[in-house]
Amino acid sequence: MRHWLVFAAMILAPPASVLAANAPAQQIAAPEGSPVALHGALSVQDGKVVGEHGRPVILRGMSLFWSQWAPQYYSRETVDWLVEDWKVSAVRAAIAAEGGDSARQHSDREFAKASAVIDAAVRNGIYVLVDWHAHRAYPEEAERFLTAIARKYGHLPNLIYEPFNEPLREGVDWSRDVKPYHQQVVGAIRAIDPDNLVIVGSPSWSQDVDIAAKDPLGFANVAYTLHYYAATHKEALRAKADAALAEGAALMITEFGTVEATGDGDIDIESSNAWWDWAEENDISWLNWSITDKDETSAALKPGTGPSGWTDADLTENGKLLRARLRAAAEGKQR
Ligand code: MG
Repeated sequence: MRHWLVFAAMILAPPASVLAANAPAQQIAAPEGSPVALHGALSVQDGKVVGEHGRPVILRGMSLFWSQWAPQYYSRETVDWLVEDWKVSAVRAAIAAEGGDSARQHSDREFAKASAVIDAAVRNGIYVLVDWHAHRAYPEEAERFLTAIARKYGHLPNLIYEPFNEPLREGVDWSRDVKPYHQQVVGAIRAIDPDNLVIVGSPSWSQDVDIAAKDPLGFANVAYTLHYYAATHKEALRAKADAALAEGAALMITEFGTVEATGDGDIDIESSNAWWDWAEENDISWLNWSITDKDETSAALKPGTGPSGWTDADLTENGKLLRARLRAAAEGKQR
């Protein structure tokens, strides 16, 4: 009988390679002068995201595209290049959770992509958002995926969770639907990782920050994500965001476009500048959509562009605009 139990334990135990892949990541010192070396672990205090020094921190960076459709950029080379040449202080892994080829069906494959991006961010001393990129609620799958991330990386200052990219508008209510989702998923994260930032989505594709701020979550170190597309969303959405700030909510722009909400259309530079000025004035971080070579104007790269070593000829108009903006910001110039 005992032999059978030993044998059963052997075949039921996960292989060593899986255990090693999911074991807590090694904590390494952030490179001198890097964003994480300068600011350490982030938290939310008095409606602002602040560093260990207690002062507001503005992260500026790029979101990667849907992980199932642009996997070539979920790589060390891409993150290294974005740090070295674009001077980002954060990147966002948009882990696909919609459709038939997502993290819901291929959890290990997508976990490996998130890990590649996080590991590269840690080596470079930048912050990294792990975004559960969904429009519909899949709380069980989100919880399983993000708690695995928490077990591996929750002890590192680099990690930021984003458990629900863009809840829909029709038939979706913050207090009835989305808040309970976050209570479940963020609660599960908090059981493992008590402190790293969590940036939560709200209905209307993460525009209803004013409604969420009136009925906030009770967890520490939670901010609300605000998504905008500059050619579509202007003063009316900033008024909602101002209302959320007035309620005491901390905001982070984990995704925005310089173009229309479709991800396509012309760049609206006037509106983009108005949004950037507003974000900087309010100490709000921003990450642009997106690093991909899809044939659409929000893409930063032209079709066929490889994972790193990009020249001006590889960049779209949006890519050139964001690279210039990020490089200037890294030197302290906001415009
Ligand atoms: Mg932690």
